[in-house]
Amino acid sequence: MRVIIVGAGISGLISAVYARRSGFETLVLEKAANPGGVSTSWRRKGYLMEGGIHWLIGTTPENPLHEIWKETGALQENNPVFVKDPIYTLMDGKGEPIELFRDLSKLGKGAGVGRLRFFVSCFRHFHTPIQDLPGMKSRYPRRFNPWEYVQMLPAVLLTPYLMIISGYRLLNRVRDKRLRNLLYAVCDPEVNALSYVYTLSTFAAEGESGYPEGGSIRMAQNIADTVTSLGGEIRYRTPAEQIRELPDGSYVVKTATEELRADAVIVTLDARKAIDKLFPEPLQDRWARKMRKKVLGEHCMFLGIGVKANLQAYPRSMQMIFDPPLEAAGRSYNFLIVNNYSRNTEYAPEGCTVITSLLGGWSYGYWKAAREDGTYKEKKEAVIQAFIERVKRYIPEIEGNIEVTDLATPLTYERYCDTFEGSYMTHWMPGKALHNAPVRYKKGLYFAGQRTAYSGGLPPAAVSGRSAVQHLCRDFDVEFVSR
Ligand SMILES: Cc1cc2nc3c(=O)[nH]c(=O)nc-3n(C[C@H](O)[C@H](O)[C@H](O)COP(=O)(O)OP(=O)(O)OC[C@H]3O[C@@H](n4cnc5c(N)ncnc54)[C@H](O)[C@@H]3O)c2cc1C
Repeated sequence: MRVIIVGAGISGLISAVYARRSGFETLVLEKAANPGGVSTSWRRKGYLMEGGIHWLIGTTPENPLHEIWKETGALQENNPVFVKDPIYTLMDGKGEPIELFRDLSKLGKGAGVGRLRFFVSCFRHFHTPIQDLPGMKSRYPRRFNPWEYVQMLPAVLLTPYLMIISGYRLLNRVRDKRLRNLLYAVCDPEVNALSYVYTLSTFAAEGESGYPEGGSIRMAQNIADTVTSLGGEIRYRTPAEQIRELPDGSYVVKTATEELRADAVIVTLDARKAIDKLFPEPLQDRWARKMRKKVLGEHCMFLGIGVKANLQAYPRSMQMIFDPPLEAAGRSYNFLIVNNYSRNTEYAPEGCTVITSLLGGWSYGYWKAAREDGTYKEKKEAVIQAFIERVKRYIPEIEGNIEVTDLATPLTYERYCDTFEGSYMTHWMPGKALHNAPVRYKKGLYFAGQRTAYSGGLPPAAVSGRSAVQHLCRDFDVEFVSR
């Protein structure tokens, strides 16, 4: 039986590994020239811009996600995990820098800190459970372990409260302003406090949420290599244009040059986009209408700068405070994380350093208007210059030593990965519901990717990719083979 997977982002690649192992003839169609989707890194004049992974959940065997990363070859010998500690260092020009260590007892005993530590301790055993679909045949079944769920109970009990408040509100109780500013670095404080506490709890677990050396592109290429070594095929620069169901229940996937037949299709591009563009008629199911109405683009501007200077004297990840705020693309930034890759020697020519930053928040409209009125390039340059102006107050060495700059806007993500309004991931806002696509739409048609599971990043991409193949196996009465 043949399955076509649309998209070679992390969810598509993971689906492809499991589908191929389970015996399906597997073809992946990818619009872009490389694997990884938005989880990618690229070179500019010898500098590696790490435009994807900043931390990866599942870098320790204690977290069940680790099994997926290992089974699919995402993590292997060529990309050992680096675990940074301190995680962030505050740079605010007001005295000695302060650091956030993985050992949260080092946060001290200030007002509000004990409460935060208590929340994090409740999440010590919390993780995404990875289960087998009931009724599916599996060669290596995952045993149900009730203890795994019992241990998560303290976190589950706190969840309803943390879901309705933001990270900002959670951190309001931390009286020490400098510490609070440092803690804002952990996770976008505008999103719900559940995401915040969970992220901090993964940092607090020894060895967890590390960074695979070689970056996003190496990890994506590792999974792509697993797909091809198993006999699967990936066609780059081959966007799917339409998916049509045939009367016998099989499918045709149309590309610019061919009509490809398949018994099943797994759609892994941004589901908010797929529902309107990949089918003969836009999908009109209740969930699809809700998605159309409620889903907002989640944007970032990713900025990379190649500097002809060794910046090893500076911390790896700096939470820089800007007072007055940095103004960029119609937004104000009171703080930004600036990543310093000077210790990653492969990332820049000798004696040089690449620094990066991610400027979050809605900016699609700003860039779209700039594209239309012909000021896109000029406005990109203005953002880069505003950033440099501010950062050089903390890192004077960058003055006069900049060799390359690179800014990816939501229009860049839209152009390369066709995500909805150039979204870069999904966030879960306080008190709001998530509006996702179902992993199983019907027999033979499945969705995977970040808008099919809980919010945010690579874990839902991985879990939904695996889950889509489990549905496929159950529907076609095929044994699921994971390794
Ligand atoms: C700057 C940045 C930093 C991030 N940091 C982290 C982090 O530290 N930790 C973390 O967990 N997550 C992080 N993320 C988020 C994470 O990378 C994404 O959530 C995840 O990669 C999404 O994977 P996906 O497979 O669901 O979607 P995508 O990556 O969007 O994959 C979909 C694929 O489909 C392709 N496609 C689109 N249309 C078509 C078509 N018509 N035909 C064929 N192919 C098509 C796209 O080109 C793409 O390759 C970050 C993202 C960015 C951009």
